[in-house]
Amino acid sequence: MSALLQLEKLSVAYHGVDAVRGVSLSAPRGAIVSVIGANGAGKSTMLNAAMGILPARGQIMFDGAPIHGLSVEERFARGIALVAEKRELFATLPVEDNLALGRFRFRREGRAAAHAALEEVYDLFPRLRERRRQLAGTLSGGERQMLAMGRALMGKPRLLMLDEPSLGLAPLIVREIFRIVVSLRERGVSILLVEQNARAALQISDYGYVLENGRVSLEGPSAALQEDARVAATYLGFG
Ligand code: ATP
Repeated sequence: MSALLQLEKLSVAYHGVDAVRGVSLSAPRGAIVSVIGANGAGKSTMLNAAMGILPARGQIMFDGAPIHGLSVEERFARGIALVAEKRELFATLPVEDNLALGRFRFRREGRAAAHAALEEVYDLFPRLRERRRQLAGTLSGGERQMLAMGRALMGKPRLLMLDEPSLGLAPLIVREIFRIVVSLRERGVSILLVEQNARAALQISDYGYVLENGRVSLEGPSAALQEDARVAATYLGFG
């Protein structure tokens, strides 16, 4: 599998201090790649730099071309989307308007294509269809995560980057969200998944990276990482 997104020696600083230090990472086409690590390891910073929200040093390649100089909008147009940890939505607008805005913001096209994209998102998240007239601000945490993912998917990304989709959600909802992530891979969307819930992330991913203090401390096939004694002791608990 050739890489869709490739980070090479990526470094990102806040006020002159590096939070991400020379990270090299590859997200192959058709795969789920997870990045696990403790609070403050630099996971969100890495995703924000890949999306172009934060400036970075090093190389960022997407689909074989450097995208370092591109804006967030240009990267989105190439097929990269980020669902941020904060799940920022338009709280006073209904679910459906939030979804429509997700597409309208970046693409000029006819109603038919926009409608087809909406139907696809509703097929993936039947709960959003049921609640399409409900104001986004009144959704539960899990529904909000679904809406944030649905909005990103309205742009038909080739790579979906997810920042802690399980954060603050009950185990049952986490399972549902992760099942949907797996079904996205089946639909051909490549996934870069950042998670503190290492157990769940490694279970559904093909390959994993462990980030510690802004550096990759370990990487390998997810099945091997799950067996790794250091990963088990530090990130999987004793459960
Ligand atoms: P978490 O899961 O807690 O978000 P993370 O692995 O995503 O952790 P980051 O949020 O990327 O980690 O943070 C990496 C480091 O950068 C931390 O030390 C954090 O304090 C610092 N940092 C993050 N955002 C800023 C900011 N806006 N200004 C200054 N320092 C920041």
